[in-house]
Amino acid sequence: MPKTISIDDLVRPNIRALKPYRSARDDYDKGTLLDANENSYGSPVHVEGLNRYPSPYQWELRSKLADLRGVRTENVFVGVGSDEAIDLLMRIFCEPGQDRILITPPTYGMYEVSANIHNIPVDKVLLTPEFDVDPEAVLENVRENTKMILLCSPNNPTGNDLSVDAMKHIAGEFTGIVVIDEAYVDFSDRESLAGEVAQYPNLVVLQTLSKAFGLAGIRLGIAIAAEDIIRYMLKVKAPYNVNSLTSYYARKAFDNLESVRFNIEKIKEERDRLAKALSMQPFVKKVYPSDANFLLFKIEHARAVYQKLAEQGVIVRYRGNEPRCDNCLRVTVGTPDENDLFLSTLKEVTA
Ligand code: PMP
Repeated sequence: MPKTISIDDLVRPNIRALKPYRSARDDYDKGTLLDANENSYGSPVHVEGLNRYPSPYQWELRSKLADLRGVRTENVFVGVGSDEAIDLLMRIFCEPGQDRILITPPTYGMYEVSANIHNIPVDKVLLTPEFDVDPEAVLENVRENTKMILLCSPNNPTGNDLSVDAMKHIAGEFTGIVVIDEAYVDFSDRESLAGEVAQYPNLVVLQTLSKAFGLAGIRLGIAIAAEDIIRYMLKVKAPYNVNSLTSYYARKAFDNLESVRFNIEKIKEERDRLAKALSMQPFVKKVYPSDANFLLFKIEHARAVYQKLAEQGVIVRYRGNEPRCDNCLRVTVGTPDENDLFLSTLKEVTA
């Protein structure tokens, strides 16, 4: 069950005391704008509005995302990819060299990189051989200074969803922050846990427009959490972190959610076809079940196969160095043509 948690008490004292940067635009954004040393004469690229700083709080974009996920605008943070949200959360909650995070490998590599950048020690509890999270093992490994647990569901690089009950159990028992990275959730048959932030004061759900929305190029990441947490994220972020072009195209995406849904269905169909075809290849030992837009598979001589595929111009990801992923490759579900090319090249290089 969700506990009562004081977010203020979890936040680093310097961040709690921080006076954030404020611009006149926080209070007034209409009129004769002579407050921010912009260039009123315009820019050389003839795109209207680019001579002006973007909205620091992105209310319109955040409200569209809030509607989509069934939460309030105040529960939504937007940043430069979900990687920015991961970085900010560590800066807000973890005292460098003192507080710790806990992750469950094999998982997304950025959690550890971000922790290393901030000099935050990382504890690891492996996923089970089926790649699910063991909630008791996670909770047993929480130490006095553990401030944050990061879970990824559907998990990268394994592709599967973690058990929802296990994730909720962890969020209910742990008295620090629980981050659930849902970068791939729209390819899964389960619902997002975004709505749970109303119940769990310590839960942060990460999402992104890079995957199901097909907008990796604009770098728009999302954190959904209780307002107390979002307020700290807004306080610590760079004043104009989401640029005008990104904001424009992110908002535009909401005019065509049908195409997002259409592509998701296509990718899921292709994922199933690719999984079947892969499992019939003689050198493929196992294709792991996927709730995402990629497949993890085990193949003899994975490293050599990876290199030979690359020499033929087909680039996949070697994941054989990750725990429990011996001889594993990860392949993104492409278009039907890309998938056919991948399969035929794989046949060729393993013949
Ligand atoms: N989380 C996971 C699990 C990912 O796989 C990725 C990107 N590969 C990200 C976050 C980062 O996404 P973004 O493009 O929003 O920074």
